[in-house]
Amino acid sequence: MKTQTNSRKYEGQCKFCQGDFTKKDIASHLAVCPKRKGSAKVKNLRLRISDPYQKNFWLIIEVNEQAKLKDLDNLIRDVWVECCGHLSSFGGYGGEVGKGRCIIETLKPAEALNYTYDFGSSTELVVEALEYSNCQLSGKGKVELVARNYLPLSNCLKCGEQATFVCAACSEEEEKSVLVCEKCAEKYHNEENEEEDHYGLPLANSPRSGVCGYEPPEPLDKLF
Ligand SMILES: [Zn+2]
Ligand SMILES: [Zn+2]
Ligand SMILES: [Zn+2]
Ligand SMILES: [Zn+2]
Repeated sequence: MKTQTNSRKYEGQCKFCQGDFTKKDIASHLAVCPKRKGSAKVKNLRLRISDPYQKNFWLIIEVNEQAKLKDLDNLIRDVWVECCGHLSSFGGYGGEVGKGRCIIETLKPAEALNYTYDFGSSTELVVEALEYSNCQLSGKGKVELVARNYLPLSNCLKCGEQATFVCAACSEEEEKSVLVCEKCAEKYHNEENEEEDHYGLPLANSPRSGVCGYEPPEPLDKLF
């Protein structure tokens, strides 16, 4: 499985050419990716969704002129955050923006909007408008995920091997993701370990990994 390297460059993949790019370089690549077709008639908007607290998680999404915030909400839920149908909102405290709003009429390049999923155990994200794009979306949808981060380095806290679980109980107590491999999960984070409270969830390539009952919708290494 491909993961981010140690270089703190927060790498991910372009959906079209499968090339590796850093968070910084991906947006300019998407405008010139050799696997894409541009057209002067197309004026879509390229967005970056990221977690301001865990900067190695990011999505690049392109939206067409019909796309509404509702469509973006659905995509963010499907790819990254949906656990049990919590409420979500764009705009943050006092400045909520209705989900019926057309995205292109709401955000101009260099502008940003907050997004919150779940007002209890919140996942707070930022939606940044990067630039307009004249590349066609590849499907029939109004929004398309076009690039995203690889799984960040996720080593078991006990032994250093690739983790596959996150203990929700320990994570909440320690206020950071407590990652464990299969072996150490059996040994330290199981139900027989009764004096402590453990609750293992499968690790996810998502800023909601280990929060509430979040489980990844796809295998850990599947990006698109
Ligand atoms: Zn590409
Ligand atoms: Zn939930
Ligand atoms: Zn381990
Ligand atoms: Zn635990």
